Amino acid sequence: MDLQHVRDHLQHAYNELLCSIWDCKRMDHLSFIVNQIYALNDVYVVAVYQWHGTYYKRLLLHQLKNSTYATPEKMTIEEQKLYERTNEKGYPIQITEDYLLLITTRKPMQASIRSFIRSEVINMLDLMQGQMNERTQYQFLYHLTVTLFVQKQKSTIVEIILHAFKHFYPTNKIQLLLSQDTEIDVDYPIEPIEYNDKQSVSLSTKAFISGEVQVEKQLETVSSIFLPLTGNQGVYGVIQLFGKGGHNFSNQDILFVTNVAKTAGKAIENASLMEHNKRLISELKLINDVTHHLNSNLDLKDIAEYIRDTILEICEAQEIGFIFYTETGEMTILQASTDYFHGSDSFTTFLMEQEMRATFHGNYNAFPDLPYRSLICIPLQQGVKVYGMVVLMHSSSYFFSFEMFKFMQSLIQHCSLAFFNTILKEELQKAVITDDLTKLYSRNYLEGKISQQRQITRNGSLILFDIDDFKKVNDTYGHHIGDNVLKQVAKIIRQFSNHHAIPARWGGEELAIYTPDKEINEAVVLAEEICNYVENNTDPPVTLSCGVSTWKNNCNDSISELFVRADRALYKAKHRGKNSVVRG
Ligand code: GH3
Ligand code: MG
Ligand code: MG
Repeated sequence: MDLQHVRDHLQHAYNELLCSIWDCKRMDHLSFIVNQIYALNDVYVVAVYQWHGTYYKRLLLHQLKNSTYATPEKMTIEEQKLYERTNEKGYPIQITEDYLLLITTRKPMQASIRSFIRSEVINMLDLMQGQMNERTQYQFLYHLTVTLFVQKQKSTIVEIILHAFKHFYPTNKIQLLLSQDTEIDVDYPIEPIEYNDKQSVSLSTKAFISGEVQVEKQLETVSSIFLPLTGNQGVYGVIQLFGKGGHNFSNQDILFVTNVAKTAGKAIENASLMEHNKRLISELKLINDVTHHLNSNLDLKDIAEYIRDTILEICEAQEIGFIFYTETGEMTILQASTDYFHGSDSFTTFLMEQEMRATFHGNYNAFPDLPYRSLICIPLQQGVKVYGMVVLMHSSSYFFSFEMFKFMQSLIQHCSLAFFNTILKEELQKAVITDDLTKLYSRNYLEGKISQQRQITRNGSLILFDIDDFKKVNDTYGHHIGDNVLKQVAKIIRQFSNHHAIPARWGGEELAIYTPDKEINEAVVLAEEICNYVENNTDPPVTLSCGVSTWKNNCNDSISELFVRADRALYKAKHRGKNSVVRG
């Protein structure tokens, strides 16, 4: 056994002990020390004795399993002296007044090695009991730096620091002060940093604002040390160590705790930046995926559904609404919106009346009886023109974080162009197939649709309407009122059309509905209902004449024949005195 070997081995053991102390993994330190000595070359027995008033009592024993060597369970002072003189049965090494170590080796052990072991064990015991010397402090700081800078979570860093302080100053009270916006979630009571005039509070605030350590003294003793957790970009919190009632801090202690807090502050910043970068990268990736997806020529329904599913998955909102405005200021709720938006026009109207900018609420109560407290509104914009908005809601207060709001804002802005282009495209397509005055489908579209439907089913019926004495309406009230009446009738026809039906303007004051799901009797009933309704709900009042036709049970029946039969029936209705329905 040489001194170099012992030194390397025990210094390594010391460092391991140093790590285990604030590693939160509790170990039996004394047994660890004994084990380390036992692991030295040539050693085959290590025993620890503790002073019991009149003799030493054996506390721990490490010895080769089959060894016949008998270490005494008790040792008097005389026996100790005898051991020391002869060194035959082992070397007793007095560590402190209380502790005695007995080491037995195969070959004689030099006095210098024994004295080195003694000093190293004393260091380890000091460390165990939280007493530090300068060397320990440097080594501790070194290990702390290595450990803290690989931590990914701010809370773990704070917990390690608190644990270390508690170990080195076990009788001192420790308080953790954090500002409201520091997102550190530790399992330790946290005091907010307050801003008022009390002296102790103002010192914590001072430490927080200046980033400098503040020492509070009463007479000559330190009553509190305020340690800011400072990084290059800000201060993340303050740890307050109370001096009163516990260990009194020397200048060396103050230097030490200051360095610990500095290391912690930098490590917290490092972890925050890592967290932030990680989030940014995943957000960018997502935006990239979404944009890529939106470029693949989807229709408005698919776009809205895709964006809805993506957003709901990320921010876990309970409701999402897509609200669009038309040129005339009307509002459309996209089908992809969740349930609440389909049943609450008053809420969406209310939102529409607010100033159009991105807003974020944690405790929203501006709209009576709204069952949601958290609300995010993001306008859909093209240049300066706002053409709609996306609304996200959750029933819990403060459900969305500010970070989430910012992210939703950038995600929705990226979707905005795709939305806008698709709406334009769909509006254009609609314009081509829609009659401008009545907003019913054009005759061309109707004919196209009928021939499409005919491939699927030949059960449908065609209803042709003609406004009675419409010329008189024009002559009496003018063309403008005439147009208005035409619009009223068109609106009624639209209202009476289910989503299978195709209401269209046939030409002039003649309108039509093709109902692919109705056989002729049902179509006649529908036509009569419409005629009745028009008679009683137009202003000035008008009546309709109406012809209804259906397919003949012969495969050669053509669309034009279907029209001709409806037209003939209509002609009959006119002939019979108007305001009636005739089947063809
Ligand atoms: P009947 O009961 O026989 O159908 O008589 P009517 O006056 O309705 O029929 P007629 O065919 O004599 O006249 C149709 C009128 O409808 C003539 C035309 O000025 C008017 N009209 C057609 N399209 C429009 C339109 O878009 N706006 C207005 N205001 N009038 C229209
Ligand atoms: Mg006519
Ligand atoms: Mg007419």
